This record gives sequence, C-alpha cells and structure tokens, in this order.
Amino acid sequence: MKLTYQPFELKLKHPFTIAKFSRTATPLMLLQITHDGHTGYGEASMVPYMGESVETATAFLNQVDLSAFKSPFDFSDITTYLDSLAPGNPAIKAAIDIALHDLDGKLKQQPCWQLLGSNPQLMPVTSFTIGIDAPDVIRQKVQEAENFKVIKVKLGRDTDKELIQTIRSVTNVPLYADANQGWVDKEKALNLIYWLHEQGVQLIEQPMLKTDIDGNAWLTERSPIPLIADEAVQRLPDVEKAKGVYNGINIKLMKSAGMHEAQQMIIKARQLDLKILIGCMSETSCATLAAAALAPQCDWADIDGPFLTTNNPYKNPEFRDGKYVLSDDAGLGLSL
Ligand code: MG
Repeated sequence: MKLTYQPFELKLKHPFTIAKFSRTATPLMLLQITHDGHTGYGEASMVPYMGESVETATAFLNQVDLSAFKSPFDFSDITTYLDSLAPGNPAIKAAIDIALHDLDGKLKQQPCWQLLGSNPQLMPVTSFTIGIDAPDVIRQKVQEAENFKVIKVKLGRDTDKELIQTIRSVTNVPLYADANQGWVDKEKALNLIYWLHEQGVQLIEQPMLKTDIDGNAWLTERSPIPLIADEAVQRLPDVEKAKGVYNGINIKLMKSAGMHEAQQMIIKARQLDLKILIGCMSETSCATLAAAALAPQCDWADIDGPFLTTNNPYKNPEFRDGKYVLSDDAGLGLSL
C-alpha cells in the first residue's frame, strides 16, 4: 500500500465567526492510499482550536506504516494501531481511516454507506451554517442557503437575539443553534433557550463550557428542546459521559478519528438513548461524503462543509431536497 499526501488550504466563502474564533481558511491534509490498482481518498481538516496542523499531521504520517494491513481491512485493528503511534491527532487519523474505507469499498466494488449498513431512505436533511455577522451579510447568507431546509446559527455572544431576528426577517425555515460553550449564566441561558424555542430553534449545541457538567445538566433537565454535546464529546469513551448531561451528541469524523469509531459512537449513543447529530468541520466533498455515508444512522445532519467553501478540489456532493444523495459508486462516491 502506498500512502501519499499534500497540504491544501480550503478557503471559506465568508470569514467564519463563532463564539471564540474567526477565520477565512482552514488547513487540510489531502491523502491517498493506493493498493491493487485502486486509490482511496481521505482528508484531515485541521481547524486551529483542535490543536492539529500541517506540521503535526506530517510528523504523524511519518510514523505510519500500513504494510501489515491487508484487504479486507480490520478497521478496529487499524484504529488501535494508529492510537498506539501517538495519542490525540484525531483529524489525521480520520484522514487515514476515510481513505481506507474508500479503498475498501473500491476493492469490494460496493459503496461505503452500504458496507456500513446505512439505509439511504433515512437520510436526514443537512443544515447550512451561518456564522456571526452584520445583519446585511446575514441576509445575504440566508439567500445563499435557499437549497437547504434547515439553517444552523452560531450563537454565544451578546447579540444572539438580534441575529435570530435578522434571520427571521427573511425566512421561516427551522433553525439549529450552536452556542459553542459561549453561555455563562445558566438562568439567563434557560430564558434564552425558551425564547429560541418560540423562534423555531429545534436543537442547541454545546450551551455552556464543556467542563461545566452541572450547568449543562441543569439546562438539559429544563430545556424544551434537545441540548447536544459537541466540544464535550470527541471519541468513543466520551459518549458515556454525555448521558444525564445532554440529550444527545454531535459526532464529527475529525474528532472521532474517522468512520469506524464514529459508527461505534452511534451504536453506543443508541444504547444510552442519546440523540445523534452528525457534523463536520471545514471540509471538502471527501470527508463530508464519508460523514454522509453514516448520516442515515443519525437523527440530524450538519454536513455543509463543501457548500461553505470556494475551492473544493472535488465535485460538490449531489444534493437534493436539502439532503445528500448517496451514490451507488464504489467507495465514498467522490468525483475528482
Ligand atoms: Mg458545534
């Protein structure tokens, strides 16, 4: 098996502002694994607040030797091997896992979604995320989102109500909200949650600091809409900790170290009666098609990555009625 990779800077249509950060581009590592005449494609999206970079990804890849693994791949063994090389590094581990899933599908001549047991009929709609911005820009972004059935808004500043009111002045589509740990006072947060509920917000991600377990649990007990752990849940062992603190979890391949562990998290969350949102970082079609292959096993999807960028190196995923359309092509169904 031959592994090749190259850094890529993914540019965003709009500077992306959330409660704590703002950025205009995201460093990626695009990765290919070739075996037996087939090439699997993977991708790491290294958003700055997660601590990975082109440098850390390169250092990790320099340690990787996949020669011991043969098709059909044992993804559980591969995950254990990658974790044995170094802790952390979930995005670059995800890139390898995604490329191997794509390759596995191509070698078996089956789409990844089928190999993972997903039913395309159950594909949820994907939300389109709008970052914090001036009202004029917000209105423009809402217009760009006309193909989406749900809009996700980034909250967590003093201007949360104005932002929602601006959106509501142009559209009535259902909303998801993400506070990105930005709410500090739980009583105030609860009042805002009731108001957001009236405004048609259907779920809220990470209301308070991930370390404030009591605060988040207090809110979940009282909230009229589901509260979802994002920053608080990265990998499989974190799923259990969400029980009793949140109503559900947000799974992202760049946190879970790939598709294999994401599916383990889905199984665990179902056992614990937790709802599941599948999300993404700033990603090309490659990583979002990998998430889309698992999305039918989740309650909600927020995999709008390629639609928020200007230089996606692949063809944009097929999208209809606000949903990804899963391809019958072998592997991820990625078109170069
Ligand atoms: Mg989030």
